[in-house]
Amino acid sequence: MSKPVAVKNLIIGGGAPVSVQTMTTEKAANVSATVTQILAAERAGADIVRFAVSNAADAEAIPAIKAQTNAALVADIQRDWRLAVMAVEKGIDKVRVNPGNIGAEENIRRVADAVKAHGIPVRVGGNSGSIEKTYLQKYGLSAAALGESVLRDVSRFEKYGVTDIVISVKASSVPLTVQAYQYVAARCDYPLHLGVTEAGTEYRGVIKSSVGIGSLLLSGIGDTIRVSLSADPVKEVVAGHAILQSIGLEKNFVEVVACPTCGRCEWNAIEMARRVEELVSGIKTPLKIAVMGCVVNGIGESADADFGIAGAKGGAALFKQGKIIKTVKREQIEEEFLTMLQMEIQRKTV
Ligand code: SF4
Repeated sequence: MSKPVAVKNLIIGGGAPVSVQTMTTEKAANVSATVTQILAAERAGADIVRFAVSNAADAEAIPAIKAQTNAALVADIQRDWRLAVMAVEKGIDKVRVNPGNIGAEENIRRVADAVKAHGIPVRVGGNSGSIEKTYLQKYGLSAAALGESVLRDVSRFEKYGVTDIVISVKASSVPLTVQAYQYVAARCDYPLHLGVTEAGTEYRGVIKSSVGIGSLLLSGIGDTIRVSLSADPVKEVVAGHAILQSIGLEKNFVEVVACPTCGRCEWNAIEMARRVEELVSGIKTPLKIAVMGCVVNGIGESADADFGIAGAKGGAALFKQGKIIKTVKREQIEEEFLTMLQMEIQRKTV
């Protein structure tokens, strides 16, 4: 098991629930826009939100952003150790640095002293574009090069007494990402922040992240996740939770199962499934709802659902745990089903 690391009032690692992160796209110095994005991400279920600190104005904005938000906040520092120190002094909950970019030993020591003095953790983030040259020459572009490079960076912080460390080793290639995390997980017990970097636009990005993050989580590797998408941060958070739900790490949600439909489909089941999913998103109740195309196969196939609906000639059948409880005419489908849905949610939440 990984070592637990505290970030604000959250634990990463040590068997704590896998947390979901995202990153804002606004400039931190634009406090109101950044706060708006963070609050939207929080409503979608983000535990941790990161933003870029690219200059002193961004760092200066930290107290105001913190005062208006609840999520644990992470300052993303690219090159300047001074900004890392400033962000820490301004009250950030965690910093993300790439020590390879921070340069001289002395700079690392200053960042290390700052995080230790404020009792906050640091994420050492390596990626395939920032592998130390010696490792690239020795191992080529590989998990070993990426892993050794980041472990060397970690040791630079350890040397100055920093032990609250979270590691990431991202690549845009899913196999390389997975192998690099496996490499690091086998060699240290720091908690791991999982992600596939530059995953891409929403559709492909979600697929790449689900495969990469999902396969690692299923093998017991990973403590916090970010689905990187060229899309709104809220979409990253929703995708992150969907990954956790799909692999059974998150159970408190309404799962909508729906058949793909086929020639036996008797109604617009696809549209109803889409609407129901929208309706129940964010409801923290363990409930399974089935939206099926026909009674021929639909009811049997979704017998484990708490309740569901299946198309029938001229209407639909409403069922609970595989047993039909009511049949409704086509024009009543929507009203009857949605009423039943509300009742079931209420029944489960009281
Ligand atoms: Fe086809 Fe019915 Fe199966 Fe849906 S439940 S895929 S409509 S057979």
